[in-house]
Amino acid sequence: MLKYDVIVVGAGPSGCMAAKYAAKAGASTLIVEKGAEIGEPVQCAGLISKRALEESELKDVKPLINNELKGAIVRSHSYELRIEVPSPDKSAFAIKRDIFDRALAEDALKEGVDVLLNSKVKKIKREEGEAKLTLSADTAAGKEELKATVVIGADGVRSKVANMAGLNVTKHFLNCVQVEGEYKSADAFAEIFIGRDIAPGFFAWAIPLGAEKIARLGLCIDKRCSPHPSPLRFLKRFLAEHPDIAKRYKGSRAGFTAGAIPIPTDTGLKRRMPGQSTVRIQEGCGILLVGDAAAQVKPITGGGVYYGLKCGKIAGGIAAEASLSNDMGVLRDYETQWRNEIGKEIAFGLKVHRLRCILNDRDFDTICRVLSQEEMLQRIAKHGDMDYQAHVFRDFLKNPSLMKLAAGNVIRYLYAKRRLGN
Ligand SMILES: Cc1cc2nc3c(=O)[nH]c(=O)nc-3n(C[C@H](O)[C@H](O)[C@H](O)COP(=O)(O)OP(=O)(O)OC[C@H]3O[C@@H](n4cnc5c(N)ncnc54)[C@H](O)[C@@H]3O)c2cc1C
Repeated sequence: MLKYDVIVVGAGPSGCMAAKYAAKAGASTLIVEKGAEIGEPVQCAGLISKRALEESELKDVKPLINNELKGAIVRSHSYELRIEVPSPDKSAFAIKRDIFDRALAEDALKEGVDVLLNSKVKKIKREEGEAKLTLSADTAAGKEELKATVVIGADGVRSKVANMAGLNVTKHFLNCVQVEGEYKSADAFAEIFIGRDIAPGFFAWAIPLGAEKIARLGLCIDKRCSPHPSPLRFLKRFLAEHPDIAKRYKGSRAGFTAGAIPIPTDTGLKRRMPGQSTVRIQEGCGILLVGDAAAQVKPITGGGVYYGLKCGKIAGGIAAEASLSNDMGVLRDYETQWRNEIGKEIAFGLKVHRLRCILNDRDFDTICRVLSQEEMLQRIAKHGDMDYQAHVFRDFLKNPSLMKLAAGNVIRYLYAKRRLGN
């Protein structure tokens, strides 16, 4: 039976980074991945910041970049808000997620991590009196049992590890669908489309991939505020009927890909309910969750790569420390550390998401119109940040028109807060 200090379930960005940092800290580390190939299937628009690329610590990023973006155009029904990247340090990139994930895995391998592909973890248990967790996996060679002191659940949205550990960090999900196809894009600008009939509870996007005139077009919906539960129905209509899209979209090269994004239940350190944790300590062993499995995503944009990498580093280091010192109490630091890093951002993002769920198309028009004013564009250039959005959103609320819009929706917001339940 294979025994490790740390076993990471899932070879996405969060898992690869967690494994790399566990190995770096001296722990024998294994990644167990259910897929036959790392990075497949891609369920991502691949839009990340320059900061996220740096956080990946990859040396040669050129082969994984589709396009460097000049900014974003946000379109409501009647207005258009054009935001340009103000400086190179705030650049955004469209990346090839499959190559990105594989490069992260290679870095982990270089650090001494073992990788077991084609192996789906089905069960985690602790035998009576044993200070190790036993993972049962269905592998290409049949059933395999693996042992570890610390297990890191990096198995994505709807994490089995979270479920088996009784850790419920998310109850709700955004349902997403995307297609890659021929599209005459707006230069190198990402396009965001907001409207209740376009993508209720979220937005639609078109991410240009560069010279080939190919783009990723997709959307997410929050079923709790949508008249229909299928995102595919919205995407088909968006591609066929949206005046800005229908004339520029020339059909896809492949089929639709569907995925989900977790909506965190809570982020505060103090107010959390039992079970809403990303750490489970048992006698002599423990479980941590990271990335989508821990709902470490930005509720405003659904982006999870940057937070997953950041929290992966924390998880890996702490898992190694706990297993090498045989002190599982150390695992508690993980919860404190990652929530200190991004907890407030996620908590604020949840408020914006709730508000988005109740606003109507006239409100979205007002927001785009107000933000198009020169003074507001300057504030966006100064404070806008893809990874840390709370600052600029708070700043928006100083504008009298937006303050009035928010105030006018307070009652509905409070009602939605109870109804949405997060
Ligand atoms: C349509 C869509 C668009 C998105 N666009 C963006 C974007 O533009 N930018 C951005 O930052 N984020 C985006 N995201 C979110 C982003 O994709 C995730 O946040 C990110 O992939 C999370 O990484 P992860 O490593 O935590 O999980 P994942 O990347 O999901 O990796 C989990 C891994 O675990 C494996 N696994 C699952 N169960 C098991 C098991 N039982 N045993 C073994 N292995 C298992 C899976 O095969 C997978 O390889 C998007 C998401 C969707 C759905």
